[in-house]
Amino acid sequence: MQNYIDEAEKYILHTYNRYQIVFDHGDGVNLYDINGKEYLDFVSGIGVFALGYNNKEFNDAVKEQVDKILHTSNYYYNVPAIEAAKAVTKASGMDKVFFTNSGAEAVEGALKVARKYAYNKDGRTDHEIIAMQHSFHGRTFGALSVTGTEKYRAPFGPMIGNIKFANMNDLESVKALLTDKTCAIICETLQGEGGIYPATEEFLKGLREICDKTGALLILDEIQCGMGRTGYMYCWQKYGIRPDVLTTAKALGCGIPMGAFLMTKEVADNSLVAGDHGTTYGGNPLGGAACTAVFKLYEKLNICENAKEVGAYLFEKLEEVKNSYPQIKDHRGMGLMQGLEFDAPVANIINKALDKGLVLINAGTNIIRFLPPLIITKDDVDKMIVILKEAIDNAY
Ligand SMILES: *Cc1c(COP(=O)(O)O)cnc(C)c1O
Repeated sequence: MQNYIDEAEKYILHTYNRYQIVFDHGDGVNLYDINGKEYLDFVSGIGVFALGYNNKEFNDAVKEQVDKILHTSNYYYNVPAIEAAKAVTKASGMDKVFFTNSGAEAVEGALKVARKYAYNKDGRTDHEIIAMQHSFHGRTFGALSVTGTEKYRAPFGPMIGNIKFANMNDLESVKALLTDKTCAIICETLQGEGGIYPATEEFLKGLREICDKTGALLILDEIQCGMGRTGYMYCWQKYGIRPDVLTTAKALGCGIPMGAFLMTKEVADNSLVAGDHGTTYGGNPLGGAACTAVFKLYEKLNICENAKEVGAYLFEKLEEVKNSYPQIKDHRGMGLMQGLEFDAPVANIINKALDKGLVLINAGTNIIRFLPPLIITKDDVDKMIVILKEAIDNAY
């Protein structure tokens, strides 16, 4: 294993401090490293492998497409993308979709939609966007510009202009930033990388009201919290609101790079037109086939229901863990997206867990994030809790 790690560090740009593991394959909720050691996975490749590893029907759908055609370009129609578009619009209740290759690219598109929509209304080119502190929207320039962590942005200035940051769950802080140039408010329904901070129902409804009143677009980024992770296909569906623009990715392709931004008909009819936006790979037949298979399997396996039920169980169990360790300050989240906040860095706990065959990930330095495949069972949760407690005991 060490040879591979040395080679990786020699040739691959060091933009991640990686855990010292080389994974080889996966099956269900388990991962295996190149030495054959088994791990219970509570990360799912950062919320990607919702269906678990090595799902046969998913793999077959992808393989079948590989043998047909991988790519044609967006100058022609392809059936898998059409099927995927029907599935994702139906599941989200949005009207139109643009497929991308990643989450960041979906956010870029959403920001362009907001600016173009506002430009069509008043012809100005100095529109403002309100984003949230602690938010994470990706590493490309547009997405980074609306990401609420100063240290991610600082070395790369200047960012795109006219972005302001409000505080999550503080409507007054949003209202204080509104001007006649505000064209959009962008927010994760449940913040992921920033530390598992859920938006409250009151806040989301308040944002919807502000946008209805001012004509600004509400962009909800559900790249991490969407696709059933919270027990709802999209987390906002719990609150009876709908965004004007939605971004989704991660589990959308369950391992095949795939993202999307979606919008209402009103926004679609008054924003991007032919020539305004494009992508070479986005929405290609391979991604389309993967995405279509994902939605089919979500229905067949009742993924959202499982996330809701096992998520509630996970919540109960993590609440017990929190109550027995004074070093745990907070427990937050919904469904199968939860976090435990400690009073010190959690890297040590995560390393101990890895030694014991449990894959966990942090969100910020002091928070352990739980993002298991959405097929996990209560038994898997019980197994995880045993190892987690041992890891905490050994780390302190
Ligand atoms: C992961 C993530 C992104 C970026 O997605 P990439 O596919 O890594 O570009 C954007 N927004 C949220 C909420 C995310 O969790």
